[in-house]
Amino acid sequence: MAEEIERIKCLIIGSGPAGYTAAIYAARADLEPVVYTGIEPGGQLTTTTDVDNFPGYPEGVQGPEMMVDLQKQAERFGTQVRFGMVTAVEFSKEVGGIHKITVDDSTQLEAETVIISTGATAKYLGLPSEQRLRGGGVSACAVCDGFFYKDQDVALVGGGDTAAEEATYLANICKSVTMLVRRGEMRASMAMQHRVTNTKNIDLRYFTEVEEVMGEQVVEGIRVINNQTKETEEIPVTGLFIAIGHTPNTEIFKGQLDMDESGYIHTEGKTTQTNIPGVYASGDVQDSIYRQAVTAAGTGCMAALDAERYLQTLED
Ligand code: NAP
Repeated sequence: MAEEIERIKCLIIGSGPAGYTAAIYAARADLEPVVYTGIEPGGQLTTTTDVDNFPGYPEGVQGPEMMVDLQKQAERFGTQVRFGMVTAVEFSKEVGGIHKITVDDSTQLEAETVIISTGATAKYLGLPSEQRLRGGGVSACAVCDGFFYKDQDVALVGGGDTAAEEATYLANICKSVTMLVRRGEMRASMAMQHRVTNTKNIDLRYFTEVEEVMGEQVVEGIRVINNQTKETEEIPVTGLFIAIGHTPNTEIFKGQLDMDESGYIHTEGKTTQTNIPGVYASGDVQDSIYRQAVTAAGTGCMAALDAERYLQTLED
């Protein structure tokens, strides 16, 4: 006899601030939510140290600690948190339709509502030498890996807030940080730029790009090019940090959900509603503008309320 397929009222994909906040609200509304964590339980904040701008923590909080707190809060109201990766979806276009979900390429599930909170993933430059040396000195997370380069010379690519934040973080640990910005200005906020320019051991270079990462097993240096003068230079470093932004994790939804050209899921007006009835998107996966933990949490709340209203309308 065929095994019975589990039917979930509210399935939440992803376990960052958006996913867990959706879970807290959904659980309190008796939607019996099930969260699938993905491969990085807790999401991007687990790779951060101090979070000083999340309301309610006057002294700040460590990212991983905050995510454990959020998980516990969601579980307190009955959320089931499961370690697993949603690998395929087949959404029903009908109002009241049942959505088919595959977990870890094997387990089949059915869901009445789905809240997508899969977040975004760090981008890399795409150089073959960079890819080869990932884990051998090339990293996209200064906070995770900076410690390994204590008192060493490192380089960092990017000119946004993340790059500025990571450069100052690394400057505290490392001997020197060469920061490579491809244009003649940074994208980061002025406050963050001032932090960079006021840090003595950051060597900020504009119009500079990485041509090659040198080293066989581990990073030994980088060859950079000034894209104005075309002059190249080899800089000896043991670590290369990439901080050039993120890509939304929406691959499995392509062709079923409306997205913008970068792959961020489109939501309707001031709601978290996608183009599929009963499917909602919250957090960085639908937000290319604000991308903050608190805004992600806010849209997680909205998604749970939207899902609750949808189920209520079906019952009515
Ligand atoms: P971002 O703002 O998109 O900046 C990406 C940076 O990387 C830009 O300087 C960009 O250069 C550069 N870049 C992109 N592709 C590149 C490539 N192939 N080679 C070299 N450089 C490349 O991304 P982000 O810094 O990760 O920030 C994302 C969002 O989070 C932003 O809204 C930011 O304000 C926010 N954030 C806030 C905080 C905070 O408030 N504490 C901290 C971190 C992030 P171009 O400018 O030339 O495109």
